[in-house]
Order: sequence, then C-alpha cells, then structure tokens
Amino acid sequence: MSYRTHHCAALRPADVGSVVTLSGWVDSRRDHGGVIFIDLRDREGITQIVFRPEEHPAVAEQAHGLRGEDVITVVGQVTPRLAGTENAKLPTGGIEIVATALTVLNKADVLPFPIEGKVSNEDLRLEYRYLDLRRAEMAKNLRLRHRVTKATRDYFDGQGFLEIETPILSNPTPEGARDFLVPSRLTPGAFYALPQAPQQYKQLLQVGGIEKYFQIARCFRDEDLRAERQLEFTQIDVEASFTTQEEIQTLTEGLLASVFKAALGVEIPTPFPRMAHQEAMDRFGSDKPDLRFGLEIVELSDIFRDSQFKVFRSVLDSGGVIRALNAKGAAEKFYKEQLKKWEEWAKVELGAKGLAYIKASPTGEWESPIVKFFSDAEKAALAERLGFEPGDVLFFGADQWQGVCDVLGRVRLRCSELLGLTAGSTELNFLWVVDFPLLAFAPEEDKWVAVHHPFTRPNADDLQPLADGEFGKVRAIAYDVVLNGVELGGGSIRIHERDLQTQMFAALGIGPEEQQEKFGHLLRAFSFGAPPHGGIALGLDRLIMLIAGTDSIRDVIAFPKNNRGQDLLTHSPVNVEPRLLRELSIQSTKKP
Ligand code: ASP
Repeated sequence: MSYRTHHCAALRPADVGSVVTLSGWVDSRRDHGGVIFIDLRDREGITQIVFRPEEHPAVAEQAHGLRGEDVITVVGQVTPRLAGTENAKLPTGGIEIVATALTVLNKADVLPFPIEGKVSNEDLRLEYRYLDLRRAEMAKNLRLRHRVTKATRDYFDGQGFLEIETPILSNPTPEGARDFLVPSRLTPGAFYALPQAPQQYKQLLQVGGIEKYFQIARCFRDEDLRAERQLEFTQIDVEASFTTQEEIQTLTEGLLASVFKAALGVEIPTPFPRMAHQEAMDRFGSDKPDLRFGLEIVELSDIFRDSQFKVFRSVLDSGGVIRALNAKGAAEKFYKEQLKKWEEWAKVELGAKGLAYIKASPTGEWESPIVKFFSDAEKAALAERLGFEPGDVLFFGADQWQGVCDVLGRVRLRCSELLGLTAGSTELNFLWVVDFPLLAFAPEEDKWVAVHHPFTRPNADDLQPLADGEFGKVRAIAYDVVLNGVELGGGSIRIHERDLQTQMFAALGIGPEEQQEKFGHLLRAFSFGAPPHGGIALGLDRLIMLIAGTDSIRDVIAFPKNNRGQDLLTHSPVNVEPRLLRELSIQSTKKP
C-alpha cells in the first residue's frame, strides 16, 4: 500500500480518468443531501473529494463519520467538476475525486481553534503550535525561511565560503547582553556560557587559516524581550581574512540581492547608499534611520543662543542643543489633547524633560505652551529654517545632543506612523550606516563601553586619540546594514594585533589579569600570525520577518518562546528535582 500517488495540489482536468490515492487532513466536510464533499488538505494544497452514496454506499457511509482534521487516505477516480461548480481559486478547482475507498488513519478531537482564518490569542497558538503550523500563513513563512537559508548557503558556497559549526557550550563572549549559563557536572562549580554570537570562534577560525567562514548560527542572549527579539535566535554569521570594509559590504549586498531574488523574485539595487553614524543621528536621530520619509531634524541652537526663554538658554549654556522637526500638515491630525499626551509619553517612555511643540492652525495661528517666550526674530528665523507653514506641527528637543537625538528620533517615527507615511509602501530602502564611534561612555556604569564589541578595530586615523584616552573621538571600522529603519545586521573589521587588543581592553577598564583570564586564548592566538580579518552578522529571523511582511519575529520561527521567555508548548523553563541540582553542585536560592 502507498499513502499517495499525488499531493493535494497536483491534479488537473488533464488527469481525468486516472485512479489516484491522496492522503491528508479533512479541511472541511459538507453534506449535500447525502452526498459528502470533503476538502482534503496536505502541505501542498487542497483537492475536493466526493463520496456518492448511490455509487459507493459503504464508503459514503464511512465518510459520514469524518470530522475536521481527521487524517485519511482516499482512493478514487479523477472526474471533471460539473459545469458551473468549478472553483477558480484552487489550482485543482477543475476536478474532484470520486472516492472508491477511504482509510481513516487517525481521528482528531475538536480543535482549540480553527485552522482557517486569524487566531488572535497568541498564547493559544503557541500552546498548540503544531496546529498553528498547519495554517497556510505559518506554512508559507516556514517555506520562506527555507528558501532564504538555502539561498544563503548557495550564495556563500559560490563565494568560496565554508560553513563551519562552532560550539554551543562555550566561553562567555561579550555582545552586550547577559549570558545563559550551563553548569558543568564534570567540573563542579564551573559553567559554560551559551554563545551570544560565535564572535571569538569565527575570529579564531581566521587565525586557523580558514579565510572564509559562514554559519547559520544559533545565538543566545538573556535579554528582556521585545516584539522583535527572542532569547535564542539565528544569525547569518560571516568572517573573512585579508578583507576590507568595502569587500564585506559588497559581499553582504550580494547576499541580500540573492536572498530577495530567491524569496520575493525582486531585484534590489546595489550598492546601498552609505551614511556616517554622526549624520544619521544628526538628521534622523537614529543609527538605523528609515529613509522612506523625510521629517528631518533641524538644528536651531544658533537661533536661540541669546534667547529670553530660560529653558532653552540654560540647555545651551550647559553645552546642549536645541533642535526640532516639522511634521508637515499634521495639525489636522494631532489635536491639542493628544499633543499633551505626547509630552507625557516623552517623559515616561523616553526619559525626556518635556516635549515642546508648536501647532500652526490652518489659518496660521500658533498654538503652543512656549511660543509666548520667543521673540519675533526667533519666530521668523525658526519658521524659515523649518519651512513651518499653516497646518504644520513642530516638535522641539532641548537637551544634550544624544538625548535630543533619542527623543526626536522616536518622535519622528511616531509621526510617520500616525501620519501613515509608509502605509502600504512596498519600498525596500537599504542603507549602510558607517563610521560608528568605537566607544561610548555609560554613565550608569561610569565607564567606557564598546559600541559594537571589544574586538572591533579603531579607525587608523584615530589611533592617537585612543592612545591619549580621548575615547569619544575614536571612530570604529564598523558598519550596520539597515532596511526600512530596521537593523538587519552589523559587523566590523577586527583587531588582529595583540598589542592593540590589549589597548582596547584597557580602554574598557579590563585590567591585565582579567584580560588573561577571559581573553588569554585570543591574545595568545593573535601572537601567532593572525591575519587581518573582519566580518558581519545578519539577524536571520528579522530578515525573514521583513520579507514575510509580518510584524512579529515569532511568526517566522517554528517553536518560539513567548515574550516572557516561556515555551508554552513544552512548558519550559521547568523546575528540576533537587537531585539533579545536587549532581551539578548547584543549590537554588528560590524559596518554594
Ligand atoms: N558578533 C557580532 C554580533 O553578533 C557581529 C559581528 O561583529 O560580526 O552582533
């Protein structure tokens, strides 16, 4: 016996007369006066099956007992559908199978949700993920994922890259998140860390002479979760020797071109434009600007240098900046009450001191809590610089530069969302952001931290400020690739010299002993002829999410965790027996 001669999207009018065997799930069942119609579904599609009591009474009788999602095998003859009953929406809509035999392979209970249509309760979908995966949308996403990983492997293979697996049980590597730790039974009291990224291993592969490495790599970061993050996620991880920033960028553009061609059949124009980090922050308040719309941030500090408005003056006197953006034509959409709420939002969510605005009514009056403090000259100058006209709304940022960038960057996105500036857009706006700073000062920790990671190479022109401790002035040879305001990936040219790496660790406040303890292996490797190298990693889940056009990363992962980090299907994480903890030399401090 064979379960199938064809899949459920295969048969056409040309097959009329053949006797076929199909297997799948009962998608729906209809009883038309004793004649039973079944839509039989498998991975590929749907075929209509008819059970005719007058021709095959026993089989028709059997079909009466079928319910949705029962798994069956049907043998029958391909028959043309009666004129007028064809279904143009189905590839198999011209035919039906007149069943001569039916085997029920497995019965299904009543489902917790229908396979068809939208299911809004995501927890329920995750709890019964195997049913959720039967839904056409999810099946489509997983296929797409396969297409993308296949295109990725083909592309890198064509470029001479080797796919090499790196350990999951490994040493901590700093990527800016918390590590997942795994206790070692064989070395009591010691722990492995799950890789936040294969960063050090891929660099060590370069020292090992591999020259061109890639991996579709699972990474683990113990972070607080947002919509587009998971505790475990997948990266397209790349590293090469004797390479430059431009070569890695060209390689990445080629990869994305192949992937978009394979997944969506579209040609994306390369090379992508490049923008310096400083410019991206100045103009768009973001290191991953969405350039599908304008709403640019404009500098106003010079206009208010001698202002009588105390708030602006004191910001400027303490080295801050005054900037604004003009939401063109937004006045009719942004009401006064709403604008007050914006202020609340800016304070609570963005930590801003406030969010001043001016709204110009269609007849040209300015409504604003602050404009009464402005001189006529200031008003005229700011209107001119921002092209401020009746019907527009201005938002101000007054703070230190970084704070203003953060707030106005978010205001810009919120304006675009509320004004629908990208609604229905199919544009794919790719961008490289380059010349990131190497280090940033973290006031909470009172120390300098790596903007990318500690292995990123400083720009050759900035080695002096690095040596002089002027860390804020040092640029990195680091690059991020952005699509429609989403960071797809980032990478850098690396440090490959022992001395420079030591210097970098020192800048990060990692003393000689800690360097040896945590990174001794890398420093040692760098002293045995490490080649110059660099690479990049792209977030695979996020990439597929954008290609699939969904807004949740969970929709493109077969078995994701929910946003509390739980797997609702298998109920992990779970408590374990004290005996198992004892074996691992571990004791829980959690009170029962
Ligand atoms: N390891 C980096 C990351 O995961 C990427 C890279 O520098 O290649 O973000």
